[in-house]
Amino acid sequence: MYAEVDHVEKLSPDVLRVVLTGGTLDQFEGATATDAYINARFLPAESPVTVPFGPEDLVGIPDEYRPRPRRFTIREWRPESQALSIDFVAHGDSGYAGSWAQRAKPGDRLQFDGPGGSYAPSPNVDWHLFVGDESAVGAIGASLQRIGPGGRGLVFVVVDGPGYEIELPQADDVEIRWLYRKQAADSEQWVADSVAAAAFPDGTFDIFVHGEAAEVRAVRRHLAIDRGIDLNGASISPYWRRLHTDEDWRKVKRQWMAEQVNDG
Ligand SMILES: Cc1cc2nc3c(=O)[nH]c(=O)nc-3n(C[C@H](O)[C@H](O)[C@H](O)COP(=O)(O)OP(=O)(O)OC[C@H]3O[C@@H](n4cnc5c(N)ncnc54)[C@H](O)[C@@H]3O)c2cc1C
Repeated sequence: MYAEVDHVEKLSPDVLRVVLTGGTLDQFEGATATDAYINARFLPAESPVTVPFGPEDLVGIPDEYRPRPRRFTIREWRPESQALSIDFVAHGDSGYAGSWAQRAKPGDRLQFDGPGGSYAPSPNVDWHLFVGDESAVGAIGASLQRIGPGGRGLVFVVVDGPGYEIELPQADDVEIRWLYRKQAADSEQWVADSVAAAAFPDGTFDIFVHGEAAEVRAVRRHLAIDRGIDLNGASISPYWRRLHTDEDWRKVKRQWMAEQVNDG
């Protein structure tokens, strides 16, 4: 299926909300998971392929012009207006997806499959733990919206520095702590150290930790080993890996996940 860019909103210096409408969104089913994602196909610059395309349109297309698959979270799906919002990290000119969002203008088309996804805040716990970076802001925002004003939560969001915070749905009993990577010493351990320094609220909780792979792994290790938490049922996902393109990351992700489980 495909949709067209309706408009783009700047949520922070490096996060853009792209709102898609039209195309075949009248067939889009939405999702119940709050980490629901689409698998989008981004076309390299100068590609002769145009959206919508089918397998027959890719026959004989050289590799450098073929669509690149990338997963992106559905921040919001509004069935009444058939508008699909996605929060993209604008991480510079490298890659295909972030740079597409940076250039996106009304009428640009995006082709995708989906949605997939599996996490939603449990109605059976006292509070919710979220840890993520800008790539997880869509899922964290959708989850906080689902929890609603009466919910309880502790949220850690990694952003570059002061001034890079993103507006998230607020509730009286949800505490949002912004972690500034430009002020951090060790880039892989510091998020876990910040989580370690926090006193968790009393009661039962569910866990959502998504973002950069090494940071996610360090947080996972802290929760499992230092806090002795049983992580069965926790939603922990390394979305991307620093200095790896998505293609490079997918090649090593399975092994990485296996090693992560051995951490505890
Ligand atoms: C289920 C799922 C849901 C996701 N949802 C979102 C989402 O809603 N929003 C979102 O922005 N991302 C999301 N991601 C992550 C996104 O798919 C990856 O970041 C992807 O690599 C971006 O593709 P690209 O073409 O822009 O860069 P790539 O070609 O993959 O990479 C180029 C370079 O940019 C670096 N890079 C990639 N992502 C980032 C980043 N976030 N910050 C800094 N550097 C980066 C890479 O390490 C590499 O060096 C999700 C991933 C998964 C698996």
